[in-house]
Amino acid sequence: MPPLAVPYHRGMSAARPLPKSLPERWLLRELGQIVGAANVLWRPEDLLVYEYDATIDKGAPEAVVLPGSAEEVAAVVRLAAAAGIPVVPRGAGTGLSGGALAVAGGLVIGTSSMRRLLELDPANLVGVAEPGLVNADLSQAAAPYGLHYVPDPSSQKACTIGGNVAENSGGPHCLAYGVTTNYVLGLEVCLASGELVWLGGKTAGLPGYDLTGAFVGSEGTFGIATKVVLRLSRLPQAVRTILAAFPEMDQASRAVSDIIGAGMVPAALEMLDKLTIQAVEPAVHAGYPPDAGAVLLIEVEGLPEEEEELQAQAAQAICQRHGAQELRVASLEAERERLWAGRKGAIGALGRLAPNYYILDGVVPRTKLPEVLRRVGEIGAKHGFAIANVFHAGDGNLHPNVLFDERVPGATERVLQVGAEIMRLCVEAGGTLTGEHGIGVEKQEYMSWLFTEADLAAMGKLRRAFGAEQLFNPGKVFPNAKRCVEVGFRIPKVAGLGPEHFI
Ligand SMILES: Cc1cc2nc3c(=O)[nH]c(=O)nc-3n(C[C@H](O)[C@H](O)[C@H](O)COP(=O)(O)OP(=O)(O)OC[C@H]3O[C@@H](n4cnc5c(N)ncnc54)[C@H](O)[C@@H]3O)c2cc1C
Repeated sequence: MPPLAVPYHRGMSAARPLPKSLPERWLLRELGQIVGAANVLWRPEDLLVYEYDATIDKGAPEAVVLPGSAEEVAAVVRLAAAAGIPVVPRGAGTGLSGGALAVAGGLVIGTSSMRRLLELDPANLVGVAEPGLVNADLSQAAAPYGLHYVPDPSSQKACTIGGNVAENSGGPHCLAYGVTTNYVLGLEVCLASGELVWLGGKTAGLPGYDLTGAFVGSEGTFGIATKVVLRLSRLPQAVRTILAAFPEMDQASRAVSDIIGAGMVPAALEMLDKLTIQAVEPAVHAGYPPDAGAVLLIEVEGLPEEEEELQAQAAQAICQRHGAQELRVASLEAERERLWAGRKGAIGALGRLAPNYYILDGVVPRTKLPEVLRRVGEIGAKHGFAIANVFHAGDGNLHPNVLFDERVPGATERVLQVGAEIMRLCVEAGGTLTGEHGIGVEKQEYMSWLFTEADLAAMGKLRRAFGAEQLFNPGKVFPNAKRCVEVGFRIPKVAGLGPEHFI
């Protein structure tokens, strides 16, 4: 192969030898010609930051490409497909199931340079975004028009629209309004062939199969979203945010069940347990009572003034009946923001309690919350770990955070065992494996707890209908055929695994 004509990365040492194995020199050169040499990363120190997402798994790619347009994505995909190299799409890397990790090696296509809001159409309540646009930036751009983008993951200041689409992300305010899939009207997608195609469009309810719906939540296994048409909503006129603190988590859980049971669907109904409150308060000063056993944040909005007031009162009455020790309605916007800063900063604040935490994501029927949360604590105690809970209580979407120190020999393995047992608990309670973080590499082995082989084969067929085969995100979502599916944990770091191992 001819030598490199251009340096591939700013600051690359001329003395440093180019890699001999993958990525081959020719591949780097070709990639550089498509996206510009500075946008191809291959040096180990550059790849380090791409071997992580927000899980405890790791998987380093062989190279990272940062395209600036859909056409560049398409050209890179064509090249990768021709060379038989797996492609891993990546947004901000905040994912919590290992979806953006290159567990099968290959090429990461990062969307961080594709972060423009291409169109904002307030009259039609539509925005068109590049996939790397940060979630919160969309709402910020829409705010002057009295609009916002509803799905609000707690990671919204960092995570991207492309990642949200792939994971069908939710957020505290998705209880009443629905998750990402309810807000994606259309997508431009790069298929494995390198073709750019449109699914859906700017109008809701287009005839034909709902391929947009199929793509949302496909965890980067169908293709790469290169443009996203999003539905915007009017900002609510008035919002009532209630803090309800309880001595015990059981009481808070029962209040949640009764609020929904009474026919109310608040915009948000979030819970933080004692351990989380102890981490959050010193970090964020959110105003949560430090001695509370649990805090509920209840938000009522979008109703006529009188009805909103009645709902807020009814929710408070239910909390009181269940023994709330404090009830407070945020009277100023600054107070409301502080209450939410506590919730949205909770995961980060857990770093005060332990060097590492493993965030789980499972769903249970709301009525089972008291029993399941008790069992979660017991599982943690059995294995010697404290567990902090902060979660979307209104839709039964649990996030137990197992606190640990990965430097302790064997701790990570035991934490994974805790995770498996909690996931099993959720499924046995009539729930499911994920509410919003996806399956990725974290929970692929548990899929057979929910789905038969025929179910999984049907999903594989859908993937093939998109022409994706194993090009995009191989080794994810589906159980690894070669591994025991009882309480398996994750695929080995891929050495020795070929495409035949992946659906
Ligand atoms: C502190 C914290 C709080 C969180 N809170 C929430 C929450 O409230 N709700 C929630 O749902 N999630 C939450 N998450 C998880 C995470 O932020 C979401 O899953 C988010 O959507 C991931 O976006 P990302 O840009 O970081 O994607 P990444 O992590 O980079 O990728 C996630 C998946 O998307 C795929 N992907 C990325 N871009 C594309 C694209 N353009 N086309 C196709 N596939 C693509 C990747 O291959 C991968 O499979 C939280 C995470 C953290 C760290």
